[in-house]
Amino acid sequence: MIDTENLTLAGRKAVVTGSSRGIGRSIALALARAGSDVAVTARSMPQLKELADQIRSQGRRSLAVSCDVTDPALVKPMASKVIEGLGGVDILVNNAGQAGSHKFLSHPDDLWHNMLSINLTSVYYVTKAFAPGMVEQRWGRIINIASIASKRGDRYIAAYTAAKHGVLGLTRVVARELLPYHITVNAICPGYVDTPMTESSIANLVARVGMTEAQARETLEKMSPQERLMEPEEVAALAVFLAQDISKGITGQAINIDGGAVMW
Ligand code: NDP
Repeated sequence: MIDTENLTLAGRKAVVTGSSRGIGRSIALALARAGSDVAVTARSMPQLKELADQIRSQGRRSLAVSCDVTDPALVKPMASKVIEGLGGVDILVNNAGQAGSHKFLSHPDDLWHNMLSINLTSVYYVTKAFAPGMVEQRWGRIINIASIASKRGDRYIAAYTAAKHGVLGLTRVVARELLPYHITVNAICPGYVDTPMTESSIANLVARVGMTEAQARETLEKMSPQERLMEPEEVAALAVFLAQDISKGITGQAINIDGGAVMW
């Protein structure tokens, strides 16, 4: 009998990439509130240390490890530190990412390569580093923070969109390959979320299109039928749900949180 009254992550060990701010920070805190120990990683150490202190103050173990996830030579030692520090990892949240935009006809090659590197190849490196431990323990949860850009094509974000489409492809294949080991692999696809990344998109619209800040914010809000930005906590709540043992039947999925903008 499955006990839905007692959903908890007590005793679990999680790692969240890109957790120095924004969605990743909210996910790390939500996993800790649900009972998990949480390692946090990104490039900005002061923010990570502050977050790890906050998680410890909730009575969980935490570990802050600096890592640029685009560099495999840094990802491996980060994974070793996290696995050693927590005594294994049950839940991996691949959240680190960056946004970048440009018209396609004059698209700079370096922007293409950077977008693929941070938004797609990093997910490959980090998943490869943590999946063997999950296979060994025959249990795991891998949650990739993709985007509604994984499912549609909007103007000026060719590289970001290609990378986020790639994250869905990777999610589906890894879900199939790790299925025999009781590991689920899913993607969360948010619309615009109220984070520093979206603040940069608003600043971009102000600088490039000449909108006021209020007009730029409203433009992004109206991308959702609910005419609002999503909250990072909404994404975090879904990540906590997918990390539960009871979510074992959900794998290879790409779940939207976008106020109904994309319905498939
Ligand atoms: P933020 O810019 O607010 O935060 C991004 C996080 O990623 C930071 O913690 C940053 O830390 C980290 N990061 C960036 N580059 C690297 C790197 N090379 N190595 C390690 N960490 C890195 O973004 P959001 O919180 O908004 O976005 C989080 C995820 O959600 C991304 O994957 C994004 O694509 C996705 N998403 C966001 C949406 C939005 O509207 N905000 C919508 C849909 C998807 P640091 O700089 O310290 O390294």
